[in-house]
Amino acid sequence: MEKRYIYADNAATTAVSDAVLEEMLPYFKEHYGNPSSIYALGRENERAIIDARARVAKCLGAQPNEIFFTAGGSESDNWAIKGTADRLAAKGKKHIITSVFEHHAVLHTCEFLEKHGFEITYLSVSPEGLIDPADVEKAIREDTALVTIMYANNEIGTVQPIAEIGAICKKHGVLFHTDAVQAVGHVDIDVKAQNIDMLSLSGHKFHAPKGIGALYVRRGIQLPNLIHGGGQESGKRAGTENVPGIIGLAKAIELATENISAKNDRIRPLRDKLIDGILQIDQTRLNGSREQRLATNINISIVGIEGESLLLMLDHYGIQASSGSACTSGSLDPSHVLLSLGLVHEVAHGSLRLSLGEDFTEEDADYILESMPKIVTYLRSMSPMWEKMQQEHIRLNADKTRLVKED
Ligand SMILES: *Cc1c(COP(=O)(O)O)cnc(C)c1O
Repeated sequence: MEKRYIYADNAATTAVSDAVLEEMLPYFKEHYGNPSSIYALGRENERAIIDARARVAKCLGAQPNEIFFTAGGSESDNWAIKGTADRLAAKGKKHIITSVFEHHAVLHTCEFLEKHGFEITYLSVSPEGLIDPADVEKAIREDTALVTIMYANNEIGTVQPIAEIGAICKKHGVLFHTDAVQAVGHVDIDVKAQNIDMLSLSGHKFHAPKGIGALYVRRGIQLPNLIHGGGQESGKRAGTENVPGIIGLAKAIELATENISAKNDRIRPLRDKLIDGILQIDQTRLNGSREQRLATNINISIVGIEGESLLLMLDHYGIQASSGSACTSGSLDPSHVLLSLGLVHEVAHGSLRLSLGEDFTEEDADYILESMPKIVTYLRSMSPMWEKMQQEHIRLNADKTRLVKED
C-alpha cells in the first residue's frame, strides 16, 4: 500500500485557497493604504471594504450594514453574547439559553456571564446530538435576553433545526444568535428566512486566512461597541481594518457558498463509505445523527484505544485527523460533546473525527479504510483496557453508550 498524505481535519482549519490568496496579495504591497486616509490609495481600500461587506452580506441573505468584520469565530461569539447580555441586563433580562455542547467560545462566555449574575439554561441534546426546538420554547422566560445555539456542531457535525428555533425566538420576542462557524459553505444559510438575529462565522474554516471573521447583526439591534477608538466598523470595532483578510473573506465565502448541494452530493457518498467501513471494526459507534449531519463529518468511537495514540498512528500513515476538538486534545478530559450524547468516559476516549475537504477522493477513502484496521489492531494489542475487555467479556451495550459484561 503506497503511503498517501491526507488532510482530514478541515473542521480545525483549512488552507487558504489559490483564488483567495491571489485576490488578497495586492492588498499587502500595492494597495497598502489606510482605508481611513483621504488620498486615493486610502479611498480605494475603503471602497474595497465596502464591496467586500456587500459580497459577504449577499452570501448570507443579509444587508451590507448588518455585517461587522471581526478577528474570527471566537470574537464574534463573545461580542454577540456579552454585548446582548450587557444591553439587555439594563432592561432586567438576565437569562440566557444555550446548549451543553456548544463550542467553548460560547460555553466559556456563558460561564463568565454566570459569574456576573446571569442565569444560564444549558439545554441537553438528544442521544443523536440534536436540539429539540420544543425544549428551547419551554426554556424561554419573561427575562430571557438571548438564545444562542450552534448551527452545526464542530465535533460530531450534527446540523440543528435553526429555522425552527429562529421562528420560536421570533414568536416570543427573544434574540437568537447562532455560531455558524462550521455551517458556512456546508449548508444554505439565509438569515432572514431563518429568523437569525446574529450569526458568527470564521474565515479559516472555509479557505480564508486565520484571524478574520464576521458577525452578522440584524438591523435595529444595537450591540454595544466592542473596541473603542476610531470609527471603523460603524464605530463599533475600532482599529485599522485587516484589509487583505477582509478581501480574502469575501472571496472565500463566495466560493464556499457556491454549488453547496452539488459539492455535498459528491462528498456525502465518500463520508458514508468511510462511516460504513470504519464501523466494520468490532466495538465501534457512530457519534451523532447520520441524517442531520454535515456531508463532510465522520465521528466514530473506537473502544479500547486512546484518541491520542490513534492520532499519532494515523499521522504516521500520513493521515491528519482529530479526536474530540483541538482545544480538548492535550488534556485528558474526554470531549464535552461526546459526554453530552450520554457516552461514558471509556467510550468517549477513543474517538476519531475526520472532516473532509473538497479535494477528498475515493482513493483517499480507500487508503483510510485500509489503514484503520491495522492501526486499531496494533493499538488494541497493547491496550490493557482491551485485554481486560476480552478476558472479562466486556462489550458495548445495545445503544453503544456504555460497556457491559456479557452473560
Ligand atoms: C473554530 C470554531 C470557532 C472558533 O473560531 P476561531 O476563528 O478559531 O476563533 C467557534 N465555533 C466553532 C463551532 C468553531 O468550529
